[in-house]
Amino acid sequence: SLEGFLGSFTTKAARKPEQVFARFNGEPITFATLDAMSAALAAELRQRGLKSGDRAAVMMRNSRLSLAVLFGLAKAGVVWVPVNAQLRGEGLRYILEHCEPGVVICDAELAETIAESGAALPAAGLILAGEQAGAASLETILSSGAAFEEAPPAADDLFAIMYTSGTTGRPKGVLVTHGMIRLAGEAVRTLSVAGPGDVFFVWEPLYHIGGAQLIVLPIIEDLSLAMVDRFSASRFWDQVRSYGATHIHYLGGILQILLKQPESVRDREHPVRIAWGGGCPKEVWPLFKERFGVEMRECYGMTEASSITTCNATGVVGAVGQPMPWFSVDILDDKGAPVPTGDKGEIVVRTSLPGALFKGYLRNPEATEKTLRNGALHTGDSGSFDSDGNLWFHGRLTDSVRCKGENVSAWEVEHVAAAYPAVEDCAMIGVAADVGEQDIKLFVKPKPGSAIDPIDLSGWLAHRLAPYQNPRYIAVVEEFERTPSQRIMKHRLPAGLDNCWD
Ligand code: ATP
Ligand code: MG
Repeated sequence: SLEGFLGSFTTKAARKPEQVFARFNGEPITFATLDAMSAALAAELRQRGLKSGDRAAVMMRNSRLSLAVLFGLAKAGVVWVPVNAQLRGEGLRYILEHCEPGVVICDAELAETIAESGAALPAAGLILAGEQAGAASLETILSSGAAFEEAPPAADDLFAIMYTSGTTGRPKGVLVTHGMIRLAGEAVRTLSVAGPGDVFFVWEPLYHIGGAQLIVLPIIEDLSLAMVDRFSASRFWDQVRSYGATHIHYLGGILQILLKQPESVRDREHPVRIAWGGGCPKEVWPLFKERFGVEMRECYGMTEASSITTCNATGVVGAVGQPMPWFSVDILDDKGAPVPTGDKGEIVVRTSLPGALFKGYLRNPEATEKTLRNGALHTGDSGSFDSDGNLWFHGRLTDSVRCKGENVSAWEVEHVAAAYPAVEDCAMIGVAADVGEQDIKLFVKPKPGSAIDPIDLSGWLAHRLAPYQNPRYIAVVEEFERTPSQRIMKHRLPAGLDNCWD
């Protein structure tokens, strides 16, 4: 059955107090220090009247402090609502108000951003981290030495509310339990063959599940984390070398960005064995492996399913692999019936482990009912299984367009168009057609210093796409509106047909 992570953390902190949990820019934080800092915060929160189940919005970049905050909230049973530190304005205000926090904890330099968002803040107020914060600062609280003796929350208790990227609409607050975050960490352990002496390099913010799940690893294995507060392509390998990192992780285009760095004779001089993550185009896998000598583990997952749902450990290029031992995955047609092997349909996730899937979306019963049906997670993603049992991901179901009697997956068209030399990024939507159904409109952003000729692009695509997949309209844009996780906000792309090539 599912366990939380906090009990194991406390036990290990008592048994191996001097063991290093993580290093931040080289500076170590031990289990004992993390335990003491987080106890002090938990005590302070109780004193401020925060009860178990209340919420704390936390807007911080990765630091020793943000790690202590995560554990402090967990100890007090106060629900951690990590807020993306890049959010601004209305998007920030929406989350801060939607989660109804009892307290807000943020880096001092983000206090102004929060104020400017116009969000109504809780009476218990704001706790600031950083030098400008003065006497009431988070640092002062964390170093008070106050003890906190309450028993850890149960596996089934709420640990966090993690907001989705908001690719398809308003971000949704995923209810994540203590057991789920433990499981998310177990998933990384399952796929990455790690042990004593291993070091996981963490550039991803803790406010993503991909970063947050890593905090479980030092607890369940004798390995440590090496954390930095942001991704830097030019410093990446130097950081990796100086930390002795054996494992790295990626999202979307990160590996392509690393490949764009000038080649160096030191490209293979590093201790990294495994790179795991999701969303890397399959053309990139062999290039990355060849140049840096690192094994790839591409995963498919989402916050709603404790992060990693399937993982490719066999190296079949392009596949997202096989389900974690505690999940089973079915591909269903639009009537809910299983499709034959090889056919596409909706990816539906079930679990043999009660509590492995999310508890619903905060204050959003419609979305919860649509997504969580009879205990199964209806992902809204399109996938298929090959005859070896590997899952293949084909984009989002709702992100397809009915055109000339066929379903056209935006993901597939974008994948092809992205390979056009002058295209830096692109996005496809459906627009109303003259007669029924829809036409395809493709937005393209040129690479710096390049220009895109829509007629040439269209001809190029015609050689690579079925006629019904070829965009009827092409619009060249300077920039895309993006979510904080850098995904294009497709629902905001204009369906209008002015200024585009027909
Ligand atoms: P929202 O639900 O608010 O629209 P989102 O779904 O983009 O936002 P996340 O929870 O961050 O927010 O992302 C999960 C989604 O990421 C999955 O549902 C899937 O569409 C996509 N995804 C997962 N794994 C992969 C992968 N290996 N390659 C490409 N996309 C993936
Ligand atoms: Mg989603």
